[in-house]
Amino acid sequence: MDLFQVYDLYPIEPVSAQGCRLIDRNGREYLDFYGGHAVISIGHGHPRFVEALTRQIQRLVFYSNSVQNSLQADLAGKLGRLSGYDDYHLFLCNSGAEANENALKLASFHTGRRGVVAFRGAFHGRTSAAVAVTDNPSIRAPVNEGHQVVFLPFGDAAAVEDALSKQAVCAVIIEGIQGVAGVYEPPGGFLSQLRRLCDDTGTVLILDEVQSGYGRTGEFFAHRSSGIRPDLITIAKGMGNGFPVAGVLIHPRFQARPGLLGTTFGGNHLACAAALSVLQVLESENLMDNALQMGRMLLRELPRLSPAIRDVRGRGLMIGVELDRPCKEIRRNLLLKHGIFTGGSSNKQTLRLLPPLCVGRQETERLLEAMQTVLRS
Ligand code: PLP
Repeated sequence: MDLFQVYDLYPIEPVSAQGCRLIDRNGREYLDFYGGHAVISIGHGHPRFVEALTRQIQRLVFYSNSVQNSLQADLAGKLGRLSGYDDYHLFLCNSGAEANENALKLASFHTGRRGVVAFRGAFHGRTSAAVAVTDNPSIRAPVNEGHQVVFLPFGDAAAVEDALSKQAVCAVIIEGIQGVAGVYEPPGGFLSQLRRLCDDTGTVLILDEVQSGYGRTGEFFAHRSSGIRPDLITIAKGMGNGFPVAGVLIHPRFQARPGLLGTTFGGNHLACAAALSVLQVLESENLMDNALQMGRMLLRELPRLSPAIRDVRGRGLMIGVELDRPCKEIRRNLLLKHGIFTGGSSNKQTLRLLPPLCVGRQETERLLEAMQTVLRS
């Protein structure tokens, strides 16, 4: 059998990694400023992560969600404390898309409505129809009977107000910072306006922190600086440092009942061990603070490097660098030749920097030097 190749592959095959360094098949080293798409949070091969997973593999890898699993409660407790959402509930699943599916479903069950407001440039996942072909009406929310999604301009509160007055909307869904679009923050005050509009109309506000969360911006969640509390928050990528695990943080006013949501693999023993060790390392090694410091250095230095850099956006270690030309060639050939691996975005001129949160000063300086050299040529 051959692979059903749906990925546009980079000319590199990492076979091992440590911290922020990747080693390819030929023994060549690369600095990982892509973080496997914002997934590597505490760094590759962290000894505490490796030890936690090894210990758990030897004990119990998986058992279904039909039995008690106190690792899930430990994870919820620690996540609540570190994120500042101690009073919320946690539902565990496997991927960012699945977290968003569950959040939308909850919003729809809760309100009985099926409309959704999303924003231009948004990316929330790729799944669509599994529940529609499942013969069990009790797990199907109104939103699963046919979505009515409107895409509005990012930052346009008046358009949101208008949509909420015209349509029965269950949820407004927004990224903490739009990532795939090319790193765009919600304009100042927009999240507070959304909070007010959702409160006025009984609409659920979903914050997708799949990419921008878990300390990447220097705060646990990108939306924290806005001061609002969303109804539902979705998390994934950095949560397992590469082990697939995701979740939804759920406001206490949402009622749970058996069968409302569910998954086979979500919150399994190995996933919980991975996620717990990520939180322990994030805290004990002050990685959020490091993300803030290294991010400040990048945001300060990048705009000075070259006139070819048009704009530098973002916060902490979620940074978009917009060039005056398409960045594909620069990333794939030139930066890779200098041993630097970066991410792209759906904006052809914007590359993304999403390194592990443990990236150091010297590594950051190496990136800056390589960018300068490459852009000069
Ligand atoms: N939400 C955001 C903001 C994302 O950036 C992504 C993936 O890039 C997703 C959801 C989907 O996550 P997954 O690929 O784990 O399904």
